[in-house]
Amino acid sequence: MSTVNLSTITKRFGNVTAVKELDLKIKEGEFFTFLGPSGCGKTTTLRMIAGFYYPTEGKVKFNEKDMTTVPPEKRNTGMVFQNYALFPHMTVYENVAFGLKVRRISKNETKSRVEDVLNKVRLDQYIDRQVSQLSGGQQQRVALARALVIEPDILLLDEPLSNLDARLRDEMRNEILRLQREYGITTIYVTHDQVEALTMSDRIAVFNFGECQQVGTPSEIYNKPVNDFVAAFIGETNLFSVTPDKENEGIAVFQSTDFDKSIYVGHTEENIGSYVEGEELVMSIRPEAVRILKDSDDGNNVFKGKVSLVQFTGASVHTYIEMKNGALIRATDLNNGPSTYLKEGTPVSFQLPQNQIRV
Ligand code: ADP
Ligand code: MG
Repeated sequence: MSTVNLSTITKRFGNVTAVKELDLKIKEGEFFTFLGPSGCGKTTTLRMIAGFYYPTEGKVKFNEKDMTTVPPEKRNTGMVFQNYALFPHMTVYENVAFGLKVRRISKNETKSRVEDVLNKVRLDQYIDRQVSQLSGGQQQRVALARALVIEPDILLLDEPLSNLDARLRDEMRNEILRLQREYGITTIYVTHDQVEALTMSDRIAVFNFGECQQVGTPSEIYNKPVNDFVAAFIGETNLFSVTPDKENEGIAVFQSTDFDKSIYVGHTEENIGSYVEGEELVMSIRPEAVRILKDSDDGNNVFKGKVSLVQFTGASVHTYIEMKNGALIRATDLNNGPSTYLKEGTPVSFQLPQNQIRV
């Protein structure tokens, strides 16, 4: 087990800056996820930790030991690649044993370690199969076994589930978590899939354009996004541009051209970032926080509109409400909630709870 410390690392390829001044501290035994859209520098960062790339600037440390330019085979990291990178013409045993052979581990020890890890990933019956005869999910397990068999200090996984179908992805998600907990191994997981990130991680770093936008636990990232990129990338949200108005007894007031009345937001550090007066800001409210009202009362943050679209997804129902000036807001309810049976065109009122708005 090991900590990973990236201090102000930058990686340039010619004039492309793939990763820019990244600072991250990953704790021992942590399941840490790099999340972001394609091309934002996730793989490049992972490769700098594995040693396949060296940073242009900055330092990579494991347990405070400088590893910045240590070659990959001397870092004791296990890596699972997006396309698995298995040897298709070799057996499961030969694939998994490969890393031990390179490390000149004895035949007997190799055999017992390979059998042990194949047992852990539940592939013991397939030990003599050729990899090319296995299903995608089984190949994924071979790749995991191959990374784990060397008893790495750090496990690096680059979008390991992206080639699997939805059902298998769910299963492997749990499988990876089980193995990670069992081995207690520091794990860095790369994905563009927010559900994977939210369900698996102890902490998440959200990347965009080579820079880290926010680091936090899944609930911090979801409930307290620091900017509109994070709010929109992690889950669904409603975004509106607003300008600050006068503030009264801890309640901040905002105006928006999308709303016909002021919007009130409890002014806590969590709800509102720092801003200068007159600045145009972005307001975010999650669809599940938007409350559709049965009676059209006239309280704070109660607005009127009409239902423009209802989408039934099974477990939940999305209702799009169009306001007077055409702006849309989405409300999400559980199936059988108050909005389940609303018809398109119905006039409705909805409320934006003061403590659930982020500006
Ligand atoms: P991600 O894994 O988040 O999709 P990458 O780390 O692969 O992103 O890429 C980040 C950026 O760096 C992209 O713009 C990509 O084109 C560029 N890049 C990555 N690897 C190389 C390379 N070997 N040579 C040149 N550019 C690269
Ligand atoms: Mg990548």
